[in-house]
Amino acid sequence: MPSYVILEKCDGCKGQDKTACMYICPNDLMVLDKERMKAYNREPELCWECYNCVKICPQQAVDIRSYADFVPLGASVVPLRGSQDIMWTIKFRNGEVKRFKFPIRTTPEGQAQPWPDEWPTGTDDIKSPLLCTEPGSTLASELPTLKK
Ligand code: SF4
Ligand code: SF4
Repeated sequence: MPSYVILEKCDGCKGQDKTACMYICPNDLMVLDKERMKAYNREPELCWECYNCVKICPQQAVDIRSYADFVPLGASVVPLRGSQDIMWTIKFRNGEVKRFKFPIRTTPEGQAQPWPDEWPTGTDDIKSPLLCTEPGSTLASELPTLKK
């Protein structure tokens, strides 16, 4: 179920050319209505509920219409982003509330390494069932294979 903008809270990121939600959406779904200075999700059916726009919005103006099995009626999942972590507030449908912190990535933009140097590159064989980072990325020296 897609993200949506709570209009009363959105300030259009104060009229910047690219708003925070536009910057972060991997599907390029968020756009700013410059006349009203409100953002919206232009293709809700393409939203994969990654929560990026929810987490980055400085006004907490984005929420997700969650699937009923993930967030049953009356429950909510609300992230609050800090500089080092995100505080998640989970409200269950019976009213119980739980909070936990999860550290955020602090790698400078553009410097994330998909895999470290110590992971040997796997096979170039296109017919191999292994991914190109395996077996290194599994942290196992070798993976089981079928005997022919
Ligand atoms: S990041 Fe938040 S405040 Fe900024 S435009 Fe998007 S919804 Fe509005
Ligand atoms: S939840 Fe993810 S895919 Fe959906 S609009 Fe927000 S950033 Fe884009």
